[in-house]
Amino acid sequence: MLEKTPDYFNVTDIFGENVFNDSVMQERLPKKVYKKLREVIEEGKELDLETADVVAHEMKEWAIEKGATHYTHWFQPLTGVTAEKHDSFITAPMPNGKVLMSFSGKELIKGEPDASSFPSGGLRATFEARGYTAWDCTSPAFVRQDAAGATLCIPTAFCSYTGEALDQKTPLLRSMAAINEQSLRLLRLFGNTTSKKVTPSVGPEQEYFLVDKEKYLKRKDLIYAGRTLFGAPPAKGQEMDDHYFGAIRERIASYMKDVNKELWKLGVSAKTQHNEVAPAQHELAPIYAEANIAVDHNQLVMETLKKVAGRHGLYCLLNEKPFAGVNGSGKHNNWSLTTDDGINLLDPGDTPHENIQFLLVLSCILKAVDEHAELLRESAADVGNDHRLGANEAPPAIISIFLGAQLEDVLKQLISTGEATHSIEGEMLKTGVATLPDFMKDATDRNRTSPFAFTGNKFEFRMVGSKASIAQPNVVLNTIVAEAFAEVCDTLEKADDFDMAVHDLIKKNVTEHQRIVFNGNGYSDGWVEEAERRGLPNIRSMVDAIPYLATDKSVALFERFGVFTRAELESRVEVEYETYAKTINIEAKAMMNIAGKQIIPAVIKYATSLATSVNAVTAACGADVSVQTELLTETSTLLAEAQTALKKLHEVTEKAAAIEEGRVQAVAYRDEVKVAMDELRAPIDKLEMIVDKDVWPMPSYGDLIFEV
Ligand code: ADP
Ligand code: MG
Repeated sequence: MLEKTPDYFNVTDIFGENVFNDSVMQERLPKKVYKKLREVIEEGKELDLETADVVAHEMKEWAIEKGATHYTHWFQPLTGVTAEKHDSFITAPMPNGKVLMSFSGKELIKGEPDASSFPSGGLRATFEARGYTAWDCTSPAFVRQDAAGATLCIPTAFCSYTGEALDQKTPLLRSMAAINEQSLRLLRLFGNTTSKKVTPSVGPEQEYFLVDKEKYLKRKDLIYAGRTLFGAPPAKGQEMDDHYFGAIRERIASYMKDVNKELWKLGVSAKTQHNEVAPAQHELAPIYAEANIAVDHNQLVMETLKKVAGRHGLYCLLNEKPFAGVNGSGKHNNWSLTTDDGINLLDPGDTPHENIQFLLVLSCILKAVDEHAELLRESAADVGNDHRLGANEAPPAIISIFLGAQLEDVLKQLISTGEATHSIEGEMLKTGVATLPDFMKDATDRNRTSPFAFTGNKFEFRMVGSKASIAQPNVVLNTIVAEAFAEVCDTLEKADDFDMAVHDLIKKNVTEHQRIVFNGNGYSDGWVEEAERRGLPNIRSMVDAIPYLATDKSVALFERFGVFTRAELESRVEVEYETYAKTINIEAKAMMNIAGKQIIPAVIKYATSLATSVNAVTAACGADVSVQTELLTETSTLLAEAQTALKKLHEVTEKAAAIEEGRVQAVAYRDEVKVAMDELRAPIDKLEMIVDKDVWPMPSYGDLIFEV
C-alpha cells in the first residue's frame, strides 16, 4: 500500500473536479433544465434565456464552492493565445452595505469585451469596435485555480458586431457542422440509419522545451522572441540519441507530475509523456477528444505547461525552433471521424480491400489533401514554423500522404485492375527469445518523415507548429474532406447501381490523386525533386503560404460550407501578414539590442584584455605573444563584421517598419530583415567560440539545454 504523503492524490478522485461537466450538470440542474441543455449541446438547438438563467445560477454556485470570485468568457482571438476579461460575481451594494453574488443567463451566453485591440484584419473598424463573445456550450466551463485566485472560465466564440468570426473557435464549429452533415449523408448511403452525429476526433501531441528559469532570464532573446537569436552550437548535440525516450530526470518528472495533476483537474486527459529527440525537449499527449474540446484543451495544456514551469524554477519554451541546429518542436495533429455510436470512419477493419466504405472515405481524403495541399500547408504556417518546415528534422514543406504497405498495395490493385482482391497481412514477429511472446506485426509500419501519415485508424498531420492553435489545421481538414464527401454523395445519391458507382468513384479518386501518396523518406533531397516532377507544391515560407487562404478556390470551398466568408478570409490574410511582420520586427529589435548593448561591449572588453596582455608581455620580457595577437586579430575582424551587420540591420528594419502593413511589408521582413539578422548572427556566433566564457554576457546553448 502506497503511503499517503501530503502530495498523494488519487487520479480518479481529482479528474475533472474543476469542470462543470455532464455529471455536475446532471446532479445540480433541475431535470427539465438539464434535458434542455443536453438538447442544445447535442442537437445544436437554441438556448432560451430562462434555461440559461438557471444554468448560470447553478454554475455560479458551483464555482463559488470552488473558491471562484470572478467569471470570464474565455476565447481565442487571432493572437494565437487565449484571452479573458474577468468580472466578479458581486452586484451593486445593497442599502445595508452588503453585496450579493450573481450571474445571469445573459452574462453566461453573451459577453461584450471592449475588443478593439484584437487583430481583426480590418473586419472591425474602430468606430464599431465592439466584439461579442458567445458561450460554446459544447465545451464545458471550468474553474481555474491558482495562486492568483479562482475564476470560472466559460469557453466562448468571438465575433464582430455583424457576426464575422474574429477567432479560432467560430470557424472550427462551423467546419464541424459541415463535416457532420456530409459524413451523415455518406453513412446513410451505406445503409447506416442509427448514427446521429459524426465528429472529428483530435489528439494533439505537444512538444516543448524546458530550460532553467534563472538562465532564461539572462537571455533577452528568449524573453522577447521566445527563441534564441544568437548561440554557437554546443560540443554535443542530439547525435547520440540518448535523450529520446530516456529516463526522465527527477526535476522534470516532478514538473510533469504537477502538470498532469493540474490538467486532470481540468478534465484534460493527459496520457503520454516522454523525453523527445533534443536535449531538454519533451512531449505530452492527451487522449483524443472532439475537435473543439481538443482545441480548447490544447490551449489549456500550453497554458499549464508554462504556468507550472515557474513553480519548478523552469521556463517552458513553446516556440517551434528555440535553438538553431537542434530539433524543433511540433504538434502532431491526429485526426479521425467518429460517430456518436462509436464507429470510426477511418478504421479499415481486418480486410481493408473488402471494406468499400473505408476505401471510399480514404479515397476522398486523398483527393481532398491533393486538391487543397496549399491550404493544408497554409494552416500550419507560422512564423516560428518557418525554421522547422523544410529543415531536416521536420516534415518538409511538401504535403504528401503516407499510407503504409498494406493500403498502398490495395490502392495499386484498384488502379491497375479496378479491383482489390486481397490485403497484405501482418506476419508473426519472431523475437527469438523463448520467454518473450511472439506477436503479430502490424501490416503497416510507421513512417516518421511523412507530413500526413495514416497510422492505423487516423491520420497524423505533423506539420503543425508547437506554439500554434490547432484550430486552423482542423478547420481545413474538416472542410476539405466535407467537400470530397459532398461530391461523392452527389453522385451516389443519383446512381442506379450503388455498388458499381462506389467502385468507380474509389478508382477515380485514387487514380487521379495517386501523386499525393509517398511512402519513402520524406527528408531526402531526392523527394524534393520527385515531388517537383509530380507537380506537388513546395511552399517554403509562411509569407508564400498566406495568399492561398483567400484564393478564389479557397473562398468557393469555405463559402460553400459556410465556414468562412470572403471578407473573413481576406481579414485573416491581413492578420497573418501583420503577425509575420511584427514578429520579425521584434526579433530584429531584440537582436540589435543584444548585439549593441551586451555582446559588442563584452567583445571589446575581451579584445582590450588581449591587447593589454600583448603590450604587457612584450614590455616585460619580449616573449612570444603570437597566440594573443592571433586571437586579437581574429576577434577584431569579427567585431568589425558584427558592427557592419548591426548597422545594416538597423537600416533595413527601419525601412521595413515604414512600409504600410500588408504583403509588401511582410516580404520585406522576410527578404531583407531576416537576411540581415542572419548576417549579424554569423560573426557573433563565431565570436562566442573565441571569447572567454566569463565575459560572454549570456548562458550558452550548452548551459541552456544540458543543464536543466
Ligand atoms: P505516437 O506513437 O504517434 O507518438 P502518441 O500516443 O504519442 O502516438 O499520440 C497519439 C495521439 O493520437 C494521442 O493523442 C491519441 O489519443 C490520438 N489518437 C488515437 N486514436 C485516435 C483517433 N482515432 N482519432 C484521433 N486521434 C487519435
Ligand atoms: Mg508521440
